[in-house]
Amino acid sequence: MTTKTAHIVAHSHWDREWYLSFEKHRMLLVKLMEDLIETFEKDPEFKSFHLDGQFIVLEDYLEIMPHRANQVRKLIEQGKLIVGPWYILQDEFLVSSEANARNLLIGIQASEQMGGYAKIGYFPDSFGNMGQAPQLISQAGIEVAVYGRGVKPVGFNNEIQSGNEHTSKYSEMYWESPDGTRVLAILFANWYNNGMEIPVESEKAKAYWAEKLAAAEEFASSSELLFMNGCDHQPLQKDLTQALKTASKIMPDVAFRHSSFPEYIQALQKAKPQSLDVIRGELRSQWTDGWITLVNTASARVYIKQQNVKSQTLLEKVAEPLAVMASLSTGIYPRHELLYAWKTLLKNHPHDSICGCSVDEVHREMMTRFAKSQEVAEAISVQSARTIAESVDTSGFDADCTLPFVVFNTSGHRRSNVITTRMDVERRYFDHQPPHEKYQEFKREYEAFDPNDWIALNAEGKQVEAVITPVGPTFGYDLPDNRFRQPYWAYQVDVELHVQNIPGFGYHTYALVPQSAFSDAAANESITPELVAGEQGMENDYLRIKIAGDGSFTMLDKVNGRNYTGLGIYEDTGDIGNEYMYRQPDQEAPLTTQGLPAQIKLVHHTPLKAVYEIVHHWKLPTSADELLDEEIRSMVPFRNRKSRRLDETREVSIRTELSLEKMGRSVGIKSYINNTVQDHRIRMLFQTGLEASHVTVDSIYELAKRPIQPEAEWRNPSNAQHQNAFVSISNGREGLTIANKGLNEYEVLASQNTIAVTLLRGVRELGDWGVFATPEAQCLGQHILEMELISHDFDVIESDAYVQAYQFPIPWTVQQTGVHGGTLPAVHEFLQWEGDHLAFSALKRGEENDDMLFRVFNVSSETTSLKVTPSFEAKEVYESTIVEEQGEAIKAADDGSYVVNVGPAKIQTIGIQPTTSLV
Ligand SMILES: [Zn+2]
Repeated sequence: MTTKTAHIVAHSHWDREWYLSFEKHRMLLVKLMEDLIETFEKDPEFKSFHLDGQFIVLEDYLEIMPHRANQVRKLIEQGKLIVGPWYILQDEFLVSSEANARNLLIGIQASEQMGGYAKIGYFPDSFGNMGQAPQLISQAGIEVAVYGRGVKPVGFNNEIQSGNEHTSKYSEMYWESPDGTRVLAILFANWYNNGMEIPVESEKAKAYWAEKLAAAEEFASSSELLFMNGCDHQPLQKDLTQALKTASKIMPDVAFRHSSFPEYIQALQKAKPQSLDVIRGELRSQWTDGWITLVNTASARVYIKQQNVKSQTLLEKVAEPLAVMASLSTGIYPRHELLYAWKTLLKNHPHDSICGCSVDEVHREMMTRFAKSQEVAEAISVQSARTIAESVDTSGFDADCTLPFVVFNTSGHRRSNVITTRMDVERRYFDHQPPHEKYQEFKREYEAFDPNDWIALNAEGKQVEAVITPVGPTFGYDLPDNRFRQPYWAYQVDVELHVQNIPGFGYHTYALVPQSAFSDAAANESITPELVAGEQGMENDYLRIKIAGDGSFTMLDKVNGRNYTGLGIYEDTGDIGNEYMYRQPDQEAPLTTQGLPAQIKLVHHTPLKAVYEIVHHWKLPTSADELLDEEIRSMVPFRNRKSRRLDETREVSIRTELSLEKMGRSVGIKSYINNTVQDHRIRMLFQTGLEASHVTVDSIYELAKRPIQPEAEWRNPSNAQHQNAFVSISNGREGLTIANKGLNEYEVLASQNTIAVTLLRGVRELGDWGVFATPEAQCLGQHILEMELISHDFDVIESDAYVQAYQFPIPWTVQQTGVHGGTLPAVHEFLQWEGDHLAFSALKRGEENDDMLFRVFNVSSETTSLKVTPSFEAKEVYESTIVEEQGEAIKAADDGSYVVNVGPAKIQTIGIQPTTSLV
């Protein structure tokens, strides 16, 4: 009579790249898969293998062994090889919300095409878990999550230390999203290797199972016990069947079963107690001593994070929306190209990749993948913008000398900005004349060009404020569909333009025209007050900025009267930790630029925008002392290290650009840092002085409210945390939001609730399980770091500041065109929508049908309503999901709009089937 069941799940946790390059790990993967296929053939009792919850390992394998495709498919169909649902095992916090959703969508679809997928939200090795994971997976029909970190009880090395709301009596529990979605969650209480290398020999097996069974039973809620037979890159245990026979013989009261996740979960569902603990929201190991959270992967290799934000933004917030808009007139949507770009980008999202915690070879290859994904996105964007612009009726502008251009907003929310775009005033195609001569001739003819002779008009023919600056003749070329490439010289100008209220998915058309042709237009010119106010000062209707001699600045919000002082100070500290964790040397005081004289000068001053340049020549310690090398070589744990920074210093030059736009209630901050020193971290400090107990942080499909004070058991002096697009603080009346482009780490310092944003962190070692040097993780050389400091009333949600913060990294798309007729009006909105407290996430066509999918999420904890009004005829509008499954139909209102309620923290996708289908 057996009293309990030991479910043995054979698996290997496959980091596709980490302490070895991708290809070197892949050679081992090929070996694993070959062994696996052979073992399945030879041993009918070897029942199944869990392929780590990610589909990509199969792609990686089949690229080398394409002849195995049918065998693999058969194994999946037979339930022997268990794959998916993810495409890759991501870091949940360091990629965008949409990237988390696409990872699931692409993984499920790819797995289905190969025979099916496991309905398990698998997060074995995530360095923390996003609070919205239950909602995300449950929208894909998955009701169970499996994870390794963040909750008590946990074994291994990340034990949570005291009883509180993030504890569970058992390794099985419920996990709830902020929207209320609840899933069954299974914690690897003894890690995902608690059944690895099972002995075949009886004596060894006795000792092994005595220990392993006791450890599992300590946390299990039922007699169904889970044993994970494998670990990171674990080769196959080919004699597993033998080992389980031995186990059955020596322990007849235990049913040892070569099981699988589906089997184990089915058994658990029946055997688990009526009630289990419920844990809620983000699992960031916040209830631990704070030393093993791996959170500082958020600032390891910041250059990787910057490229990631650029890639994600180009795909989600530019290429896809533009391609959708263009598809309405062309009937063509580049679905396959976009999928390729997404897959290329997702290959950079595994936890050891995007976290920057691998060896240098890995991150070098990632930079190429980012570039590839960006190039596809850019090509699609340019093609889409050009196609739309050619269909816009620009005949409202006078044909003579008029240079129309279309300004697209793809950010999903109404937007205003001062933008700069480069335009061709005239093109001269190369003919039989030598290009150099043609250039000289062109240049001579344009010597008298006066930008003041030109003005900008909007589609109504009214003058808009613009500053035109000549650039000169520049090489360019066309690639016609039906002819050889056509090179030309273009006489170019830069146009700085104040664009206002461009619809979220739409455009406004403008034109440059000679002033002489529109004498009455000049009368519309508004008189702009100076943006520069006194020495080292800037001012507009909302803000007054004053820069001090050390480059820090004060900011008065003229709307709410709040005055902020001591903003923009740089802080530098030593870092003797590793790619995972920051560790400041003992008793080290931070260095700052407070009081350090800076060279300050006005470098850009137009009626639309002012920019000050602040230069610091900062002497910083060159590196840590030689003890650090010895401590790394001998594997002294980073917490116990005694290394200090050297007294010897070297100059690090930092150039900061502070900018203010005409109508903006925000300050642009761009830091150019030439990093010449090692083993350190540079942050920018924003002393807010705002009384608050929490900050609001952009997380995954969630604006997470996190306490400023760490929990009682926290011991790490650093309480740095993850952020995506922004961190925000408010006292209820006034607030500050700091938006960024790829700066994923912030910390709130107790003094004056100062928000520190990490700009750079340089370390010399990987830092897990061995000795791996990572010289490129020192991040030497030139870096450009960008932030926007947004002042507002109330908090980030109530004031809608989140919209501006989300828009910050999104580039404007501008397309020059000719004067021509067209089917589209000069000002247009393709898809109109409204709804309080909603944030745009995606606008795309379906993966498996032509429907348009529009996704938002509710950033608040109150139900709101979403109203969508397409500019085109829709056959059907319906509620959809993350994985594009058609749900309930939404009825059209009399005005042609479609309204749906969106619950608190809900991720809402709407499917729209246009009456015209794609080609
Ligand atoms: Zn891993």
